[in-house]
Amino acid sequence: MTTAHQQHALPSYLNPEDLGPWGVYLQQIDRVTPHLGSLSRWVETLKRPKRILTVDVPIERDDGSIAHYEGYRVQHNMSRGPGKGGVRFHQDVTLSEVMALSAWMTVKNAAVNVPYGGAKGGIRVDPKTLSRGELQRLTRRYTSEISLIIGPNKDIPAPDVNTNEQVMAWMMDSYAMIEGNLSTGVVTGKPISLGGSLGRREATGRGVFVVGREAAVKRGVAIEGARVAIQGFGNVGGVAATMFADAGAKVVAVQDHTGTVVHQGGLDIARLHHHVAECGSVTGFPGAEAFLDRDAFWDIETEILIPAALEQQITADNAQRIRTKIILEGANGPTTPEADDILTDKDVLIVPDVLANAGGVTVSYFEWVQDFSSFFWSEDEINARLTRIMQEAFNAVWSVSQEKKVTLRTATFILACTRVLQAREVRGLYP
Ligand code: NAD
Repeated sequence: MTTAHQQHALPSYLNPEDLGPWGVYLQQIDRVTPHLGSLSRWVETLKRPKRILTVDVPIERDDGSIAHYEGYRVQHNMSRGPGKGGVRFHQDVTLSEVMALSAWMTVKNAAVNVPYGGAKGGIRVDPKTLSRGELQRLTRRYTSEISLIIGPNKDIPAPDVNTNEQVMAWMMDSYAMIEGNLSTGVVTGKPISLGGSLGRREATGRGVFVVGREAAVKRGVAIEGARVAIQGFGNVGGVAATMFADAGAKVVAVQDHTGTVVHQGGLDIARLHHHVAECGSVTGFPGAEAFLDRDAFWDIETEILIPAALEQQITADNAQRIRTKIILEGANGPTTPEADDILTDKDVLIVPDVLANAGGVTVSYFEWVQDFSSFFWSEDEINARLTRIMQEAFNAVWSVSQEKKVTLRTATFILACTRVLQAREVRGLYP
């Protein structure tokens, strides 16, 4: 006889004691469950990814040796549409991390109301150790291994950390060769020449800026003259820095993987971009003070703080020291639940990742729509639609947070999980 406990026993890969990103996600779901009303009977759906694929990715190295890498594609939930989410190449990628990132994609896509479920992929590899040829072979073999479950109506990958337009072009080409037809909509974040969308590269940073502007109004912070500190100066942080600086904010500090540069009068962001393009990092930027102690970044007083690098950067260890009014989570999962509580107690307004960085997937959605219709929009049209979607999503979340007296993170989860579980309920279970 099956007991209730056995029915709910978790598969071995879903360790309830997980202290990594998946554990953080589970805690977030626990916080939202009391707000889901009768839909909460479906909540277990959100705690179990729909499909997990782990693949061996062997390649021949340039020296003739054979190397094996571990790859993943996780489809967390597809109740509202095909899976959607990036592919990360990083030596520290784990299944727990990819599961959490796929789940956050489910929430994010529902939060901005694009018709997708959530998915994510990754390969445990340091791409800096590979030649261009090796990277291409790795990408193509990985695509072939996951081609069983991806497709323009099934699951649509995109770039993430250490993957870019070129990697997407190789993925699209590999899929086209395997399937025997050209489906440009199988991946987004492609080069413009292959059906990519104008404005995609800047979309995430632009979205961070748009919700930042809305949050600033709510908190009574003027963007003009506001002090902004940014961790991460890549696709997300670099674009957000430019947009805030162009709007008259003072970007007083930028930290990347090599160090921190600080200038209380405001860094010259255009010059900083040139410096990074030439030297590969912010370190050594003339006209700025360099902080030797990486941790001192968190002591810098600001009105707006933007973590736009990696997960779990704001923790119980540094949250108490942070002096800011608004945190815009450009990165995925930068704040641990303990830090979230500490900062909320300190009256810091946190715009969560699942809302703040949804601009990228929103323009990915535009790219996919354009690919299906083979009709391409102007950049102004794309930016205007992106701005409208981000503003509407922020204001919908704000209303829920005011009505239920919860943080913006919980409000985003309430809005998104309700949409996902309503779709689940109305579809019913098969068979
Ligand atoms: P990227 O590779 O373009 O840039 C990453 C930046 O972070 C670089 O400046 C790097 O130097 C810095 N960095 C890395 N490790 C660091 C460390 N330990 N301390 C400080 N800085 C460090 O990546 P990206 O595309 O800008 O992505 C950044 C974050 O945003 C990731 O969490 C990603 O998942 C998330 N995100 C990206 C997109 C997108 O469209 N690119 C969309 C949604 C979310």
